[in-house]
Amino acid sequence: MQKSLTKLNKEIKDCTKCTRLARYIREVAKNKVRRYKDQPYYGRPLSGFGDVNARLLIVGLAPAAHGGNRTGRMFTGDSSGDWLAKAMHRHGFASIPTSEKADDGLILYDAYITAAVRCAPPQNKPTRQEMENCFDYLAQEFKILKNIKVVLCLGKIGYDTTCKLLQEKPGKFGHNKVFDVNGISIITSYHPSKQNTQTGRLTWRQWSDVFKKAKRLVNKR
Ligand code: SF4
Repeated sequence: MQKSLTKLNKEIKDCTKCTRLARYIREVAKNKVRRYKDQPYYGRPLSGFGDVNARLLIVGLAPAAHGGNRTGRMFTGDSSGDWLAKAMHRHGFASIPTSEKADDGLILYDAYITAAVRCAPPQNKPTRQEMENCFDYLAQEFKILKNIKVVLCLGKIGYDTTCKLLQEKPGKFGHNKVFDVNGISIITSYHPSKQNTQTGRLTWRQWSDVFKKAKRLVNKR
C-alpha cells in the first residue's frame, strides 16, 4: 500500500542515513552564526511542502545551512527563498511574496517544493552517495503527488535528479529550457542562489520568465 505524505514526511524528519550530513546539520544548529544566535534552529532533515494536488513540482538542491536548516522549511529564511516566494507570488503560485519562517502563513497554490537532498550539506555540496541515499524520498513523494505535469528544476543537480526520477537521460543543462518526458514538461533554471543572483548570472527578468513559462505549461497540460 502506498504511504501517505504525512508518514513519508515523518520518516524523512527522523532520517540519519547519511552520517556526515546528520552530524553537520546538528552541529550547525548548535554552533549558530552570530546573526541568528538568538533564534532556535530546526537542525533536522526537511520534507517538501505545498499543495498535495499540485501540477507544478519545484526541485531544488538541498536546504541551506542557515536557511531551511534554521527555519524548518525549504527555501525559507534566506535569499534563495526570497527570490522563490516573490516569483511564485507574482505568477499566482504563492499567497505571499516572502518566505521568512515556517509559520509565516505562506500557502502554495498548485505547486509543491522539494529537493534532491533533505539535509543541508557543507558548502552546498552533497556527495554522490548522499544524493543516492536521499533519492528514494523524492521518488516516493513523486508517486504520492499524482497531478504533477511540470517539474521546474533549480540547478543542474535538481535537473539530473529529475531526469533520474523520470528515467530520462539528461540533456545539456541551461537556463529556461523545456524538455518533454512522457507527458511531463521539465523546465530547467539556474538556481536562485546568491552566487547566481548577486553576480548577474541570474537576473530577476530571467527568473520571472521561468515562472511565466511554468504557468503557461501547467495550464496547457
Ligand atoms: S540527506 Fe536524505 S538520506 Fe541523507 S540523512 Fe538527510 S534525509 Fe536521510
